[in-house]
Amino acid sequence: MRVTIVGGGVIGLTTAYALINKGHEVDLFEQNDDVGMATSFANGGQLSYRYVSPLADAGVPWQAVGWMLKQNSPLRFRPRISLEQWRWCLQFLLACRSSVNQANTAHLLRLALHSQAVLHDWQAQFGLSDFAWRANGKMVVYRNGSHFNHAASKIAASSSQQVLTPQECVAAEPSLVDLAPQLQGGIFSPGDEVGDCYLFCQQLLQQLNAHPSFTLHTGQIVKELVVERGKVRGLKLANNEVAVDHLVMAAGMGSVGLLNKVGVKVPLYPLKGYSLTLPVADHATVPHTNVTDYDRKIVYARLDNQLRVAAMVDIGNASTAIDANRIASLRHQAQLSFPKAGDYQQAQAWAGLRPATPQGTPLLGNSGINNLWLNLGHGSLGFTLACASASCLTQLINNEPPPIALTGLQLN
Ligand SMILES: Cc1cc2nc3c(=O)[nH]c(=O)nc-3n(C[C@H](O)[C@H](O)[C@H](O)COP(=O)(O)OP(=O)(O)OC[C@H]3O[C@@H](n4cnc5c(N)ncnc54)[C@H](O)[C@@H]3O)c2cc1C
Repeated sequence: MRVTIVGGGVIGLTTAYALINKGHEVDLFEQNDDVGMATSFANGGQLSYRYVSPLADAGVPWQAVGWMLKQNSPLRFRPRISLEQWRWCLQFLLACRSSVNQANTAHLLRLALHSQAVLHDWQAQFGLSDFAWRANGKMVVYRNGSHFNHAASKIAASSSQQVLTPQECVAAEPSLVDLAPQLQGGIFSPGDEVGDCYLFCQQLLQQLNAHPSFTLHTGQIVKELVVERGKVRGLKLANNEVAVDHLVMAAGMGSVGLLNKVGVKVPLYPLKGYSLTLPVADHATVPHTNVTDYDRKIVYARLDNQLRVAAMVDIGNASTAIDANRIASLRHQAQLSFPKAGDYQQAQAWAGLRPATPQGTPLLGNSGINNLWLNLGHGSLGFTLACASASCLTQLINNEPPPIALTGLQLN
């Protein structure tokens, strides 16, 4: 079967990889001159397989009110005269109910654990590990006692996750020594992993390019989907039109307008985030594990000889321009937590738009149009969820049952 994909981020590339490995022919269209240059470029690097709770959670609306009053808080809300924004925010508020959060966490956890299994399977079969990948575990540390107690109370006795005192956090992750006096405790998930998402995209591409059934079309912006008699028949590009048999939309935020025009409404909204990447001189000064500073909503990951620091959610700002104040604040906070990590003045700043649904769960599967498929809306977890999303969608396109239940992960 010939399948066309729109979008060369981590979601489009893993989809291409899964399809090629199942014997399909794949054409991938990407507007940029290279793949992995948009939201998949300099994200937090966390393969956060066991820590998947969506942003929409009980208490977040109140916390957000406090954050909005502060100058440099983890979340910033810029109200717009936009029906789209208010509809998304209303749905987000509804998703904050704890019963809804629990259900969505369970859906994400199912997909995340499967994603880890698929990545390991691909690594065993095809040797995909040259992307600063390590199995290093994740430490979530808490400054606020009630947040820590709430998180600790959710850890089942049978779980492999460990609830640690500040001293135990430092024993497990010595680079936390400067932060420890401000901590109430931490939770360690030994099964989590790390990698550089851009390098992962490049490695997937290298293997795909070696395959005769794969064709990459870079520098090709898809302008419109051509739908006739209930099927997608083609893609309108800047200067020509190409025919399609099956089409997968994996263009992140770029999918919304294209789908809208053919009557498929997807509730995606861009949640802007920032990262810093700085060279590391001495590995002992930066975390070996992935570290999440829960109350500041900052994640830290060592990617070979670099430290990646990622954070912040700006709602109502759909540009990827770097906001100098946000970056200065991130640099300042990271420097307080890991002062000897490296030269923060040399850090590369980056901003990206998380393609997020209000519930934090992606949209996988059919769009309602016969041969039009969705692999979208992975929000803060696209790198983590990519392999499973690709493998589930491939099964659906093959008309085979998906390897895990897709309840809560499809367009209603
Ligand atoms: C600050 C930050 C930190 C993050 N940290 C993590 C993390 O630690 N772990 C994790 O799992 N996830 C993380 N994420 C989320 C993750 O980066 C995203 O979920 C993921 O990159 C989304 O991938 P994607 O392929 O859907 O989108 P993208 O990477 O944006 O790819 C979409 C592609 O489609 C192309 N495109 C769009 N429109 C068109 C068109 N009309 N024609 C042709 N091409 C088009 C774009 O150019 C782009 O290349 C983070 C995100 C941010 C912003």
